[in-house]
Amino acid sequence: PTPGAANIGVVGLAVMGSNLARNLASREGNTVAVFNRSYEKTETLVTEHPEAGFIATTDYAEFAASLQKPRTAIIMVQAGRGTDAVIDALTEVFEPGDIIVDGGNALFTDTIRREAAVRATGINFVGAGISGGEEGALNGPSIMPGGSAEAWATLKPILESIAAVAEGEPCVTHVGTDGAGHFVKMIHNGIEYVDMQLIAEAYDLLRRVGGLEPAEIAEVFAEWNTGELESYLIEITAEVLRQVDATTGRPLVDVILDQAGAKGTGAWTVQTALDLGVPVSGIAEAVFARSLSSKPAQRAAAASLPGSTQEWQVADRAAFVEDVRRALYASKIIAYSQGFDAIVAGAEQYNWDIKKGDIAKIWRAGCIIRARFLNRITEAYAADPALVALVTAPYFAEAVAGALPSWRRIVAGAALAGIPTPAFASSLSYYDGLRADRLPAALVQGQRDFFGAHTYKRVDKEGTFHTLWSGDR
Ligand code: NAP
Repeated sequence: PTPGAANIGVVGLAVMGSNLARNLASREGNTVAVFNRSYEKTETLVTEHPEAGFIATTDYAEFAASLQKPRTAIIMVQAGRGTDAVIDALTEVFEPGDIIVDGGNALFTDTIRREAAVRATGINFVGAGISGGEEGALNGPSIMPGGSAEAWATLKPILESIAAVAEGEPCVTHVGTDGAGHFVKMIHNGIEYVDMQLIAEAYDLLRRVGGLEPAEIAEVFAEWNTGELESYLIEITAEVLRQVDATTGRPLVDVILDQAGAKGTGAWTVQTALDLGVPVSGIAEAVFARSLSSKPAQRAAAASLPGSTQEWQVADRAAFVEDVRRALYASKIIAYSQGFDAIVAGAEQYNWDIKKGDIAKIWRAGCIIRARFLNRITEAYAADPALVALVTAPYFAEAVAGALPSWRRIVAGAALAGIPTPAFASSLSYYDGLRADRLPAALVQGQRDFFGAHTYKRVDKEGTFHTLWSGDR
């Protein structure tokens, strides 16, 4: 290849990398150099897409030589060791001032480590969360880049040109330094987990209590998708429920094994939130619900345990469906409120200047949790940048207040009927905990002081106190 012929390069040409490379090549003015460890993938991509004008390269040195200086390369390889291997190889052939972008699903702490190591060589390293799956990579993902402001200045036009567009604005913004982009992508995925779990719980109630068939529930979701719940996940849920299995003629959802898998980003979110002390209870419940589903031996052993203590008779089906919709909306508000709390806590811990409203904006298109209501989040933070909890913003507080009777009916009904609603129920509990005038945490402090002399504070005077408990001898 002609030296310096490409203005951008992509390393890693599996599904995501190939699609991102094609997306880049389709934009005016871009010439894309491509490299993959095993040459077959490079060859396939270049042969299948002659229109893209790719510059195929066979080793890292050739890849580096084919890029204009300062060089910019996006890595889309297996997260973990694969990413480290590619970064090591690129730092060998790149020069100070060049930019390496990791678009994979890296753990943000790995990104912080890598950024520091690469920066020491004078090369810029940008960890960029990319959401939207393979379709997003090809047609426009939501992109969450971290890294230095200097690297962002160079990357901005390129990333803006390939990102999804929401109401005329590209779904990409400089999230913050070093690992900020991957941190926010991780929270995005955590919210995605709970969003999916809430929808699944709504489906289960509509089916088991409402007596609706999957195709009918698909219609309900399609209808919900025209209102405040409008989102990609609601839209695809309707599609999934409509699908009929070609072999059996049954709804496909009935022949899919009910054990949910996970690739780990939900668990990362919860682990991180535990460290930060942020109660992302909805996300935790969603991750654990998948874990529970994937324990067939325990489920089989427990299948004969007693359940429902009160049958749930639905007199007015339309009213029940509306109750479920409202419970879903209220729980979803809590999920996002908790997710943004985690972003705030992460930003404080790692010194990132994250603009919450901008994050909601770049999630409006391209990514999996894209939804109409993200505009309301942007508005809430614009109206009050110091907002302490999203759920207390006027719009959301009002929405939750309106949904409250439905939400309580659904959670109480499910508890009596023995239908699991971990995400609905924990969101409601969280809400009640947050708004409680006084919590039994006072008693917990008493217990801690009793057995461990951990001390407590008083409501009526300053200082820390320890009681000489009668049992404390
Ligand atoms: P993948 O299956 O995660 O990774 C395969 C790619 O990694 C191949 O190109 C492979 O090269 C390369 N690779 C692995 N180890 C390597 C090493 N030691 N040195 C050089 N290359 C190595 O691919 P993917 O599904 O396209 O995902 C790419 C990245 O995007 C991942 O980090 C993933 O988590 C992230 N992501 C994926 C999605 C999605 O929907 N799939 C969405 C967002 C983000 P060979 O061909 O030579 O094996």
